[in-house]
Amino acid sequence: MKMGYSCVVLGLILVSLPGAWPWSKEGHIVTCRIAQDLLEPEAAETVRNLLPHYVDGDLSALCTWPDQIRHWYKYRWSSPLHFIDTPDDACSFDYSRDCHDPKGAEDMCVAGAVHNYTTQLMHYRDGTSDRRYNLTESLLFLSHFMGDIHQPMHVGFTSDEGGNTINLRWFRHKSNLHHVWDREIILTALADYYGKDLDAFQQDLQNNFTTGIWSDDTSSWGECDDLFSCPKKWASESISLACKWGYKGVTPGETLSDEYFNSRMPIVMKRIAQGGVRLAMVLNRVFSDHKQHIPPPT
Ligand SMILES: [Zn+2]
Repeated sequence: MKMGYSCVVLGLILVSLPGAWPWSKEGHIVTCRIAQDLLEPEAAETVRNLLPHYVDGDLSALCTWPDQIRHWYKYRWSSPLHFIDTPDDACSFDYSRDCHDPKGAEDMCVAGAVHNYTTQLMHYRDGTSDRRYNLTESLLFLSHFMGDIHQPMHVGFTSDEGGNTINLRWFRHKSNLHHVWDREIILTALADYYGKDLDAFQQDLQNNFTTGIWSDDTSSWGECDDLFSCPKKWASESISLACKWGYKGVTPGETLSDEYFNSRMPIVMKRIAQGGVRLAMVLNRVFSDHKQHIPPPT
């Protein structure tokens, strides 16, 4: 009954917001499509069961849902879950230091959220489905936040809000550093190399990790001894990349163009692919027969 209600709510959201997709949809969509293609039969079936019927089994159709509702009154609590603010220039992530919302509430950051929704989804297999949780929402939040935690500028500096307040130009139009990493690089890549075809973009990423330049690394992407410590590792990778490639050499007000685009595009593509491979790993483990144990956050 609860699930039926959530389908109605989700349906209304889609109907009431035609064309109102926020930024970053392409990255999330591709991350979710890559993940769904890598699901083992058991996880694939569970994901299908949790999705509302009107998306016809397509997880990617709802991967941007958490961005759409984050400013709604009912979901305002979810807004700090999309990112992590780390101390300026520290270039590191420390869970106990950094994973909190602006008021200091613990675990309210993207690494805490990945852990939390992973734990909630385990109840599905355990058959101990807790009525406090709407597992469809848990799946959508987890799938979205696995994308966010891999976007380097979602683990950025506090004073510039992960690059959001660093205004600049992307080629000829106004933008900001956060948005460059959320969307501009992807859109420019799509226009310049893929004829604006998201399927071709996704295919290229999949070729890169199955037979191409990343194929030797791909098995290590999915390595994860315990599902709680791994989000910390992924967030650390992101802030490291944000320092090395995101912030590096960028002056507020400047124009970023070919040089920045060409050197950063491979990183954006790799992070999207890693997010997908790792989302599949998490879902395959959470929905497999083998019971997983996740320790509480420390
Ligand atoms: Zn987000």
